[in-house]
Amino acid sequence: MKAVRFTGPREVKYEDVEKPKIKSNEILIKVKAVGICGTDMELYSGEMPYIKKGLTKYPLIPGHEWSGEIVEVGSEVPRFSVGEKVTSDVSIGCGKCDMCKIGRYNLCPNRVVVGSYKNKDGAFAEYIKLPYRHVYRLPDSMSYEEAALIEPAATASYGVMKGDIDYGSTVLIIGDGPIGQLSMQCAKVAGASKVFIVGSWDEKLEIAKSTGADAVMHYKKDDVLDKINELTNGKGVDVVIESSGSPKAFNQSLEAVKPGGKVVLLSIYPTSEFMAQINSVVTKDADLIGVLASPNAFKPTIDLMESGRINVKPLISHKYELKDAEKAIKMIENKEECRLKAILIP
Ligand SMILES: [Zn+2]
Ligand SMILES: [Zn+2]
Repeated sequence: MKAVRFTGPREVKYEDVEKPKIKSNEILIKVKAVGICGTDMELYSGEMPYIKKGLTKYPLIPGHEWSGEIVEVGSEVPRFSVGEKVTSDVSIGCGKCDMCKIGRYNLCPNRVVVGSYKNKDGAFAEYIKLPYRHVYRLPDSMSYEEAALIEPAATASYGVMKGDIDYGSTVLIIGDGPIGQLSMQCAKVAGASKVFIVGSWDEKLEIAKSTGADAVMHYKKDDVLDKINELTNGKGVDVVIESSGSPKAFNQSLEAVKPGGKVVLLSIYPTSEFMAQINSVVTKDADLIGVLASPNAFKPTIDLMESGRINVKPLISHKYELKDAEKAIKMIENKEECRLKAILIP
C-alpha cells in the first residue's frame, strides 16, 4: 500500500510499505480522510518529546485524526462488519492494567498512540489496523472529512468535562486553532453562559464568532485581561481553557481565572521549565488541570456532531491528496496562510 512516512527530521516520503495484517481481535480499515495535527508537525520537525526521548523513532507513519471504511474483520471481533464507517481512539491501552480497568487507558503504561508513541502506525496511509475495542462506528450522515475531526473534538470534549464546565459557567478559551475553536463549541454545549476566545488571526476569530463565541479578542490588538475584567464585572472567569501552548498565555490564564476557578491545560509547552506566576494558583485556591488525549470522549462527541451541536465543517480549511502530504506540511510550516484543519485524502 501507499503511505507517507517521516524518515527523519523534516524528511517526508510517499512510498510503498507493507499492508497491515490483522490479528483475530483487530479490524483493517481503508483510510478515507486524515487531518494534520500539531503533533504531526512536531513529529515532522523532530521537536516532539517522544522523539527526543526515543519513545518514537523514525521511520514512522503519522496521523491520528482520521476516518475510514472497514475492509476486513478479525475472527474474534464482535459487532463490526465490512463496509461500516468508523474511526478510533488515539490512545490504545492494553485492556488489562489498573489504569485500563478504570477507563483511563490514556495513562496505560503499556499503551501505544496511533501515529506516534511506540511507533504505532498512523493513518497517513491507505490502510490502518486497530483492536476493535478502540473502534467507533459513525453515523451515515457524517462525511469522512467531518469525521476526521472527531479526535480533536473529543480532546476538546474531554477538556470541558475535566474542567467541570456547566450550566451558566463563564469561560475563556486561549488559542483560536482547531482545539480552541472546538473547546469553545463544547463549552457552549455543556451549558456555559458566556465563552470568550482570544486568538491571533482575525479570520479564525470571525469563525469563532459565527459558531457561538460571545466575545473574541486579538492577543496583539486587545488588552485581554482588561477585556476579561470588563466582560465579567471584575470577577474573572470560572474556567480558562489554555490551548495555545504559550508560557505567556499560561500566566494570563492564572490572572483571568476567578478565585476558586479552574485552569485546564490542553497543550504541550515548548519547554517544561518557564517562569510561572504559580502563587496565583495557591492564593486563588484554584485548580490546575492537565488533559492528555481523549479517553471515553469519542462516543458523546460523535453523538453531538451528529446532532449538529458541534459543527466542525467551518474548521476544514485545506484539502490535499495523500501523495501531496509534504506540500500540505510545508504550507502549515510557513505560517503565511490562515489555516485551521488541513485534511489529506488517500
Ligand atoms: Zn491531534
Ligand atoms: Zn493498560
